[in-house]
Amino acid sequence: MRVEHLINGQPVTGKDYFETVNPATQDVLAEVAAGGEAEVHAAVAAAKAAFPKWAGLPAPERARLVRKLGDLIAAHVPEIAQTETNDCGQVIAQTGKQLIPRAADNFYYFAEMCTRVDGHTYPTATHLNYTLFHPSGVCALISPWNVPFMTATWKVAPCLAFGNTAVLKMSELSPLTAARLGELALQAGIPAGVLNIVHGTGREAGEPLCTHPDVRAISFTGSTVTGNRIVQAAGLKKFSMELGGKSPFVIFDDADLERALDAAVFMIFSNNGERCTAGSRILVQQSIYADFAAKFAARAQRITVGDPLDEKTIVGPMISKGHLAKVRSYIELGSREGATLLCGGLGAPELPERVKGGNYVLPTVFADVDNRMRIAQEEIFGPVACLIPFKDEADAIAKANDIQYGLSSYVWTENLGRAHRVAASIEAGMCFVNSQNVRDLRQPFGGTKASGTGREGGTWSYEVFCEPKNVAISL
Ligand code: NAD
Repeated sequence: MRVEHLINGQPVTGKDYFETVNPATQDVLAEVAAGGEAEVHAAVAAAKAAFPKWAGLPAPERARLVRKLGDLIAAHVPEIAQTETNDCGQVIAQTGKQLIPRAADNFYYFAEMCTRVDGHTYPTATHLNYTLFHPSGVCALISPWNVPFMTATWKVAPCLAFGNTAVLKMSELSPLTAARLGELALQAGIPAGVLNIVHGTGREAGEPLCTHPDVRAISFTGSTVTGNRIVQAAGLKKFSMELGGKSPFVIFDDADLERALDAAVFMIFSNNGERCTAGSRILVQQSIYADFAAKFAARAQRITVGDPLDEKTIVGPMISKGHLAKVRSYIELGSREGATLLCGGLGAPELPERVKGGNYVLPTVFADVDNRMRIAQEEIFGPVACLIPFKDEADAIAKANDIQYGLSSYVWTENLGRAHRVAASIEAGMCFVNSQNVRDLRQPFGGTKASGTGREGGTWSYEVFCEPKNVAISL
């Protein structure tokens, strides 16, 4: 199978092609057009040409088309979920039941919201000020390989709904479901040129897109290193940078231990541990540390590693051989740094025949981790948990914040005052109390420090996808 770019509503062949591979089986799934400057220029030109008409449509009409795209995704959940699972290794239980249905919700939500964009008024004795929210223009949307379809739709839905046009570049490791999104957008009646897709590597396709002078806004999700590079190269543009994380999962000794255990296991091992908001630093109060560690490791050992197309599988393959090698190198490092390996490690999991060649790693738990160790400070982005003891509230906050990242955080305690104090003190864009990461589409999603800048979700998406204008009328 060949996958082409989508430019101005037409499939555009590549000068070159790259292969996308099933990380569970190593089967080549498709040859994908590899874009560069020429394709990026054509796609931006198409988006620019389509902008005035699309932006000028009445919001309810845009909303109708955007909602239709949501309907088409909802009607194709099993097919898209299977493609996503094959392309990126996220398990079918997640893609089929949560991630792809959530992608449809993104379109429903922003379709509704774009009809409700209102301004502000600031009347004074001499002037009436009011704000208008215009679309930003041509937007570059860049997506990583973990949960690719959900992340892409989280960008495409507000971008289009608010009247912008887009050039989407997916990760070269997981391009397939976005290609399907392009087809469905046309089927929904979204005009040619409104959503363009250029495939290719970051350097060849991503960089010319971000530096293109006609691109007004960049919504990027990916690593901190790449985010920094884009900000430096792109010059004056609007940015939303959703970057890496190493989020603290803080458990006090008065927490509901069973619920905390379930949530802690979920937040590090679901999505194969390839999750930006993973609770990868599990900070546990000393008085319950030994008990927690034993129970946590017992649960980790029971996790089913296997075929991502099997509904029972919790941990599937890592996205690529390169990423597998990176995750394994951190497991090696943990032992060298003096952490105690409670379970997992470098051994091979038992696997069904079909996926024996896959990029698998065992769910791994390190105890007695010092927060300054590299395994605690660096984003591993795999199913590797670090258990870190702490003394008291002050120590928990200090350790939680002793990190370059600030994406998500989790606090478990039955003490209401402490819950509020710690939530307020943790340096992160999000804090979940007695909860795993539960997403409300109105919430500001994003991080602080090296985890990024800007927020997306609800009215927060105005930051990148809308240009506010103040109109001041002399009275
Ligand atoms: P990555 O930074 O390597 O790549 C992300 C995207 O950027 C890909 O499409 C890639 O092709 C493109 N890219 C690479 N170099 C580029 C350049 N110079 N110019 C423009 N585009 C370029 O990240 P990844 O490995 O694909 O994804 C994993 C990372 O994403 C992790 O750090 C993870 O935490 C982060 N992430 C963050 C969030 C969030 O919401 N904060 C969500 C998911 C993933």
